[in-house]
Amino acid sequence: MSYLVLRRQLLRNVPAVRNVRQFSATPVAGSEEVKRLGVIGAGQMGLGIALVAAQKAQVPVTLVDNNKAALDKSLTFMDKLLEKDVAKQRISKEDADAAKARISTTTDMDSVSEVDFVIEAVPEIPDLKFSIFSRLSQICSPHAILATNTSSISITRIAASTTKDPRDLSAASRVVSTHFMNPVPIQKGVEIITGLQTSEATVAAALAFVKRMGKIPSRSADSPGFLANRILIPYINEAVICLETGVGGKEDIDSIMKNGTNVPMGPLQLADFIGIDTCLAIMNVLYEETGDSKYRPAGLLKNMVSAGWLGKKSGKGFYDY
Ligand code: NAD
Repeated sequence: MSYLVLRRQLLRNVPAVRNVRQFSATPVAGSEEVKRLGVIGAGQMGLGIALVAAQKAQVPVTLVDNNKAALDKSLTFMDKLLEKDVAKQRISKEDADAAKARISTTTDMDSVSEVDFVIEAVPEIPDLKFSIFSRLSQICSPHAILATNTSSISITRIAASTTKDPRDLSAASRVVSTHFMNPVPIQKGVEIITGLQTSEATVAAALAFVKRMGKIPSRSADSPGFLANRILIPYINEAVICLETGVGGKEDIDSIMKNGTNVPMGPLQLADFIGIDTCLAIMNVLYEETGDSKYRPAGLLKNMVSAGWLGKKSGKGFYDY
């Protein structure tokens, strides 16, 4: 029996679970009712999500980052992206200006109290995400969808952080993952991942909103790494092990995978684009949550994070930028 079928049966048949859901079923914002989006974290994913929402779904976006310098860097990067699109005649100058005008930035997270849908995209640190969702449950409208872009942290645990009373699903039922892929403006697929507490209305709203953003959603279960990263990150980790054990040089590894399996870039270059710290964090979750030694992170991956060689975002990873 698949996880999703099992979960549906659980929620339908177990009286305790059914009662809990009746105790606090919360109506949520439908896709068309999303009049304003909030994005927490203006890094590479948060900025991409904000930009695509402003361009494709044409919703006003409140982009929040607790680091003013990170916000400024993101806005400069956004200007460059839009200028490039205009120069290549992919969009008109008017559309670029309109998209820009829809995005407002702030360092004050309480500004998302007015949004109908919020997507969190802060670094992959469990306690940080839990504290943000605890706060969101207090400040957001009672109908707002509370989505995370986590690559690997359990959605059920994130949802649980919204309350001290596990019977209270008023916020937990609105927690879902909209797992966008990098780079957000290019990659069409978005994984929609449900926690045990997520309501079907929340899933429907998340599916509809990512479609409004021009993306192609698919669903996966709340299992370590979900689908995309359960498959992708061990592949990258294996490439790093091949490098550190001398099976091949970095160019050889990337070349054979790029030219031999028809992927747009090799695994080490891809790791640089994802962020070496993010790759390590996901491997750690896979390893710790499954206890399976096949997910042990490569030593080189750990050392690179210790050295601050985080890939493209820090100017140095497997390659120099
Ligand atoms: P990033 O490091 O580029 O950006 C994170 C941003 O969050 C930074 O600008 C940081 O200043 C900000 N931030 C930190 N604490 C904050 C707080 N308390 N409040 C507001 N802002 C805060 O990270 P990223 O690569 O954009 O990843 C974000 C999330 O998306 C992570 O959960 C990651 O696992 C996931 N993800 C990443 C990728 C990828 O390829 N990078 C792909 C899919 C999912």
